[in-house]
Amino acid sequence: MTTMYVPVFKGEGRLEYEERPVPRPEDPGDVLVRIEACGICGTDMNVLATPPTHKATPGIIIGHEGVGIVEELGPGTTSLRPGDRVVIAPRLTCGQCCYCRRGLDNQCDNYRTIGTTIDGAFAPYLRAPEQGLFKIDSDVPRDDAVFFEPLSCVVGALARVPTQAGDRVAIIGAGPMGLLFTQVFRTLGAGNIVVADIVSYRLRFAEKIGADHALNPAEVDLPEAVEDITCTGADIVIDAVGNQIGTAVKLVRRGGQIVLFGLRPHDSPTVNQYAITRYDLTIHGTFVGLNPFEQTIQLLESRRIQPSKLITHRVPLSALVEGVELMRSGLAMKVIVEY
Ligand SMILES: [Zn+2]
Ligand SMILES: [Zn+2]
Repeated sequence: MTTMYVPVFKGEGRLEYEERPVPRPEDPGDVLVRIEACGICGTDMNVLATPPTHKATPGIIIGHEGVGIVEELGPGTTSLRPGDRVVIAPRLTCGQCCYCRRGLDNQCDNYRTIGTTIDGAFAPYLRAPEQGLFKIDSDVPRDDAVFFEPLSCVVGALARVPTQAGDRVAIIGAGPMGLLFTQVFRTLGAGNIVVADIVSYRLRFAEKIGADHALNPAEVDLPEAVEDITCTGADIVIDAVGNQIGTAVKLVRRGGQIVLFGLRPHDSPTVNQYAITRYDLTIHGTFVGLNPFEQTIQLLESRRIQPSKLITHRVPLSALVEGVELMRSGLAMKVIVEY
């Protein structure tokens, strides 16, 4: 195979299929990966929204939640062998800027990202630098491994949050990210887990994968319901939506922790600052985590969680647009592209 038929991002929410050469791993550290599957992410939906709520470079192939097999290595590659199964850590940091040198490489000033600034995994073949690939045991089912990148964001966020067995957790937003939090908190030994969303399809899903309570704030008084369940309010509240800080402050107990995880760059929600001060609240802003990759691999290889339970639809690469529409419909949880 010397060419591949792939969807190319053209800006303004457009994807156009083109014949492209299969890339060659020519530069030092390059790896050629044959992609087995790639998840459709909220980021992809944001890139394809009009106007976009996430930037991507026109002319590239998007997709960053890929799993695949190493096909060929470029010169000087040290950590991988042909035949290895790999997953993608899409943000490639520079290692040189003031943030990287400070050890805060998730804040790198000069990062590139597989699938938004350079070619990604909605293609049968991906050429990527070794830096952005992690080996994962081939015993891990492909459909669990495909969650590596979103799961790494959850692991990275929770690295910031001191937790205890039995903690009562409230998660706002029952999309794929909120439900990954649910699965991870279950594994960590949380107590009561409350999940809130306004879409009943998602709430049923949350119950199925381990939420103790799935509440619709359009139907119940959420702060009251959480107080009834937890007595004090939740020990930890996750905002997996991106504009729910006001609600989070009402759901958390005094002295509790709020994790701001969802990204809504254009929203400016209001919050009762007095409550944060008066009730000793800790608020963690979190973004993709600081190298959470090895722990994420461990979590998947140990088989302690099965994120594949979130997959509701599978589409071929030729139906990527339909897959994105499915995710937008609110009647799908996770959609993956299979090759
Ligand atoms: Zn993603
Ligand atoms: Zn940097």
